[in-house]
Amino acid sequence: MNVAIVGSGPAGLYVAEELARQRPGVRIDVFDALPTPYGLVRSGVAPDHLSTKNVTRAFDRTFDREHVRFLGNVTLGTDVSYDELKAAYDVVVLSIGANIDRRLGIPGEHLEQVYGAAAFVGWYNGHPDCRNVIASLEGKALAVLGNGNVALDIVRIVAKTADELSESDISRHAAAVLERSTITDLYLIGRRGPVEASFTSTELAELGELGRCDIIVDPSQLPDGIGPHIGEKEIKAKERNVEILRDYAKRELGTKPVRIHFLFCAAPQAVIGEDRVRGLLLERTRIVERGRAELTGERFELPVDVVVTAIGYHTKPPTGVPFDETRGVIANDEGFVEPGVYVAGWSKHGPKGVIGTNRTDAKQLVGRIVSDFDRSPDRVTKPGGDSIDALLRERKVRVVDFDAWRRIARAEQARARNGKPSEKFTDVAEMLDAAFMGN
Ligand code: NAP
Repeated sequence: MNVAIVGSGPAGLYVAEELARQRPGVRIDVFDALPTPYGLVRSGVAPDHLSTKNVTRAFDRTFDREHVRFLGNVTLGTDVSYDELKAAYDVVVLSIGANIDRRLGIPGEHLEQVYGAAAFVGWYNGHPDCRNVIASLEGKALAVLGNGNVALDIVRIVAKTADELSESDISRHAAAVLERSTITDLYLIGRRGPVEASFTSTELAELGELGRCDIIVDPSQLPDGIGPHIGEKEIKAKERNVEILRDYAKRELGTKPVRIHFLFCAAPQAVIGEDRVRGLLLERTRIVERGRAELTGERFELPVDVVVTAIGYHTKPPTGVPFDETRGVIANDEGFVEPGVYVAGWSKHGPKGVIGTNRTDAKQLVGRIVSDFDRSPDRVTKPGGDSIDALLRERKVRVVDFDAWRRIARAEQARARNGKPSEKFTDVAEMLDAAFMGN
């Protein structure tokens, strides 16, 4: 069996490992549009959460397997088409993630100082497409819309001092902008209440440890109990979140230079401003049956200078790949797209779950792939990677294999300063220079 996996983030790499285990001898080619592997582990996980990134060691062991190859710097839809992959491989697994920010659909969203989380996170993590997204963070207040872990990541990174970020792998350009930033007030705005927030308690508690920040929580926004709409399994985690917020609400306000404000039950109605953002128009909500937010009609303005939306992502399908517009994912039935084609991770089920979720999902998906393959009566084994290698050579695509990626990684480590583990290249040309050094 020969397999193409498109996307070298956790979803694709857990599928690669599981396939290699269940089917020794399977030939697997893992493609990525970037010359660098690991997807969101490299460009999504917060730069100060270095231990989370240790999972790349396990991924490296997958690439050490004899029949697993990395083909970086190859874009599906540009360098190679979906049809060409289907013609070359017995199985194609699409694990291309969801990197397009969902839109709020409210007036003022187009203003320059409104950023989506994918762009903002990509910016501080050195993704080549996002290097120039933010040149400065000016003004006094920044609002993050959304109450998930991505929103907490963004607030924490903006709130940290240069010293607190010194051992992170935040990109140099972003660290410089943050150091110059004049932002003193960070608003975390949820359209529902503290119980309905989807952030997790470890991440919530981390905010309380930041040296230069006071945290402001209005105790009247905290509920006395957890409503019946919360499932049994989730109750403990929700109670813990409310407990942490209660602790924040009790803290005496000091004179710290930065404040983090939690604002619950406030649904964004408009971004206010003509040439630049001046504020947000919010409407109070109340929580009704099944945890739903109902608008109350009570509107208020919050002066802010920068807005970041952290309200989820959708997938951008390459040409020819069937797309489910409503869900913003590749159209699929439990991972099956069409004969010989499967989908994994956020491009399958949307942006939810943590890195480890992909491991469990991979076991299930690979079970299905293997059994479909074995049951297929008129199976013709396809030519595999050699035919794609020839195409890419003909098209003069500079394919980055795993050794070449290792050269990039070593160069990134070598240029890191002052205790940072690495200084990522933020430009594909620089990455290719390092990859093909001496060639
Ligand atoms: P998320 O947890 O789904 O949070 C999205 C937030 O956006 C929710 O609070 C949602 O509110 C809100 N929202 C959606 N549409 C909105 C609108 N029109 N107006 C206002 N608010 C709106 O997603 P995420 O934070 O992007 O995270 C994605 C996944 O990555 C999650 O599984 C997360 O746990 C994971 N992640 C984990 C870590 C970590 O473990 N440290 C770090 C980052 C990300 P409603 O609930 O009301 O819809």
